[in-house]
Amino acid sequence: MSDIIHLLPDSVANQIAAGEVIQRPASCLKELVENSLDAGATHIRVIVRDAGRTLLQVVDDGKGMSPTDARMAFERHATSKISQASDLFQLRTMGFRGEALASICAVAHVEVQTRRQEDELGTRIEIAGSEVITQEAVQCPVGTNMRVKNLFYNVPARRKFLKTDQTELRNLITEYQRVVLVNPQVQFTFVHNDEIISELPSATLKQRIEAVFGHSSKPYTGQLVDIATETELVHISGFIGKPETAGKNSQQYMFVNGRYMRHPYFHKALMTAYSGMLLPDHSPSYFIYFDIHPDAIDVNIHPTKTEIKFADEQAIFQILLAATKEALGKFNVAPSLDFTTESHLDIPQRTLDTPVVAPRMQLDPHYNPFKAQNVRTASPNGWEQLYERPTNIETIVAEPLFEPSLVVSNTPLMQWDNRYILAPTSMGLLLIHQHRAHTCVLYNVLLEQLKNKQAATQPLLFPEVLELSADDLNTLEQLLPELQNVGFELEQFSPIAYAINAVPALLGQKNASDAIMQVIHSVQDNEGSVTQQWQEMIALGLAEQMAIPQGKSLTELEMRDLVERLQQSSSVRHLPNGQTISIILTHEDVQKRF
Ligand code: ADP
Ligand code: MG
Repeated sequence: MSDIIHLLPDSVANQIAAGEVIQRPASCLKELVENSLDAGATHIRVIVRDAGRTLLQVVDDGKGMSPTDARMAFERHATSKISQASDLFQLRTMGFRGEALASICAVAHVEVQTRRQEDELGTRIEIAGSEVITQEAVQCPVGTNMRVKNLFYNVPARRKFLKTDQTELRNLITEYQRVVLVNPQVQFTFVHNDEIISELPSATLKQRIEAVFGHSSKPYTGQLVDIATETELVHISGFIGKPETAGKNSQQYMFVNGRYMRHPYFHKALMTAYSGMLLPDHSPSYFIYFDIHPDAIDVNIHPTKTEIKFADEQAIFQILLAATKEALGKFNVAPSLDFTTESHLDIPQRTLDTPVVAPRMQLDPHYNPFKAQNVRTASPNGWEQLYERPTNIETIVAEPLFEPSLVVSNTPLMQWDNRYILAPTSMGLLLIHQHRAHTCVLYNVLLEQLKNKQAATQPLLFPEVLELSADDLNTLEQLLPELQNVGFELEQFSPIAYAINAVPALLGQKNASDAIMQVIHSVQDNEGSVTQQWQEMIALGLAEQMAIPQGKSLTELEMRDLVERLQQSSSVRHLPNGQTISIILTHEDVQKRF
């Protein structure tokens, strides 16, 4: 029999990768503009036709490329920005994966003209479906002019996923705003179908915000107050809205090291500082810029994701909270309103008569937050002492419910019947149901992620389409925000179907549609429940789907890991649905049998 495994041709591999990196015109725009910024451009022009379907062009005056580099740039993993793994922890550029251009040229017709200052002639390259069609020397200005035409011309499924021009243009503008708001010194122009829709001169941050959101009648930035704090761990600057200008359509932006991010946990810090000052359903605008050593954030996020992990989130939460209160207090903003309404936030509420406490920033000058071990072990308690009144933030306290001595750490564990883990303990023989134990462990992890809205997600190479009955569709739509919190990314595909673009990283290779159906059905079985219970049901449904099955043989190491993690979890005896996880055969029980 002949061999059946072979390597995919590059063009196919790139097309698959493109499915992840370039999902729509807006993701293409983001990649191109970020490249221009990385190239040190001072003026970036974005020229779009038909919301990016037929043309997406980015022209910059950056450093340009040599003829060889211009050709190399379209190869997969070709990057000038990092060369070794350790560079990942020093990252100051937007790009580093070297996959954007390779992805774009796999799914579009691309034409680039580029020249460096030191070269007399520039280079022009034309590529379609990863194939270089022409490469020639041309006369052109210094910088790079990248034209992406007929996006997804060879991927009908992707084309079908695109929304109306109006929606795709809105997505492009959203992406554009995220970039211009963090690069005020760079001049930007945005042209759509020959019409200039945005023209932004080089400016200060405040002027840039005004230029993006202001109207001639009333200065937008008049509604904002400065926020600024510098600690060894992080520098925070920017603007926050006065409480009385809060509304239903507020502008909320957070950036870290020049990159837009979403961070629900830090958002909560801001909201906590405002608590008691806002009308129900109103939220303040904010523009917060974090500057932190690259070492202390996880840059290895998926290119289309905007969530960023910080090494020391709790400390930054406290710093942000204190800085926001200080900003509100300094401008005498805090006491100007006194609504006695209950806030909808589920964090301990503080009232206006609690004095606003400025952070005290006399830190240990020898403390280096970027040393790996410090980052990981810096105790939130240590940080809390920096503030006179620490706010209780939600932390998941792992209370061991087993007696610590119950499972003796060096007793051998035994698996029986590939179903149960047996452990001799001082109280008797412990029998653990392996599937339920693992379900319990995963349940706790998922629930925490759901509550903190911080699940790691894993994009699917090919979106899975899930067709649903009207009833199931209805349930799914109610659950969408929660499912997103746990790491699913769902998009309406047709009136009766959703596409699953990404799944919780924890789900691994498990079938995504099955997992969602399981959640839908477990929620339907408990109709009328409140959200809190929904979260629990989602977590439990998913955990059951993900957990190791009964009948799977485990190594000693796997058993020990499972038992240890079970010991950390909130309940070692029962799952939330009442099923028994573990039982103890006491000495008496055993003696009675003889
Ligand atoms: P990455 O940005 O992750 O390095 P890309 O595929 O986006 O990967 O780009 C590959 C390389 O092409 C970049 O590392 C850079 O050297 C070069 N490049 C891309 N766009 C530009 C540009 N506008 N100006 C100068 N060089 C560019
Ligand atoms: Mg790039």
